[in-house]
Amino acid sequence: MKLLAAANCFFVFLLFSAAPKAFEALAQEPAPSPTAATGKRPENQEEMQRKNFGIVIHGGAGTIERSTMTPEKERAYRAGLERALTAGYEILKRGGSSLDATEAAVRVLEDDPHFNAGRGSVFTSAGTNEMDASIMDGNTLKAGAVASVKRVKNPVSLARLVMEKSPHVILDCVGAEAFAKENGIELVDPKYFFTQERWDALQKIKEAEKHGGVGGKRFFISEDGRHGTVGAVALDKAGNLAAATSTGGMDNKLPGRIGDTPVIGAGTYANNQTCAVSCTGDGEYFIRAGVAHEVSALIEYRGMKLQEAAQMALDAVEKLGGAGGLIAIDKNGEIALPFNTNGMYRGYVDPNGKFVVEIYK
Ligand code: ASP
Repeated sequence: MKLLAAANCFFVFLLFSAAPKAFEALAQEPAPSPTAATGKRPENQEEMQRKNFGIVIHGGAGTIERSTMTPEKERAYRAGLERALTAGYEILKRGGSSLDATEAAVRVLEDDPHFNAGRGSVFTSAGTNEMDASIMDGNTLKAGAVASVKRVKNPVSLARLVMEKSPHVILDCVGAEAFAKENGIELVDPKYFFTQERWDALQKIKEAEKHGGVGGKRFFISEDGRHGTVGAVALDKAGNLAAATSTGGMDNKLPGRIGDTPVIGAGTYANNQTCAVSCTGDGEYFIRAGVAHEVSALIEYRGMKLQEAAQMALDAVEKLGGAGGLIAIDKNGEIALPFNTNGMYRGYVDPNGKFVVEIYK
């Protein structure tokens, strides 16, 4: 048993110590040998770099206990993450944009009831589902977001529409849904977002609240009531970065509460000069620490590597008392996936085109 645990630790160590470096060559298409045709090295190194492309996704960070995870459930989570990776990766492989890839990956997770976004969104204290989403284009620094929408099947696509077809960055509830209707975005009956599991989770919290909550807190957000968020970051063959994030928010949140997900610079950020970031965790803390932009700023102004910058930005959340994680990819295709919770549903495609999906630490 001990041996098994040690082997497991070693594997995790290998994975995390190898992953960032491996991603320097992420999904590189076989570059023509520098000397094959001309006998010279390519003059434009950047041109070779542009052949890099990659995608990283997450399905939320939280207290993910092996003991409460059935094999069927775990298989379903893994399959959902793989479907999302496939959707995004295929677009990038064909030379599609990072914006299209991140939107496609997030839509898959929004449609999957296992994840807290779209279909599987958690409930507010009033028993409603209110979703937030955002997307950012690292090439133009344009961004779009929606907050507290109740009838939008795929909030990430509405966020993209806000970015591309409105002069604004964030639209909320009624206005966002009117804008969706005008632009032919699919609206559904709020019943579409009902899932028994999320409903039961709310009832459990309500029950605990009757007994005073925990530590005298008015709102008891149980440890296993953290249901995460979904997100994707990508680098395309043209060298453009994008990030997209979507969430149902936090269990038992007050109606009207808006988390970090639609706040550009907090839950989502992308800049071709640095990196693309998507966050998950206690939104209030991610807003206060300005996490997604912080990662970019640490690279831009302090010259940090992605790994170091991502960890430092997340450490700031922890210092404030918050928990969560983030995924990031930089302009060279390096990746980082730090989290300070028991687990984070996450995945990426390794340099050999193999899909890597992880849940626990
Ligand atoms: N960050 C999300 C929010 O605060 C929730 C999560 O990722 O767990 O709305």
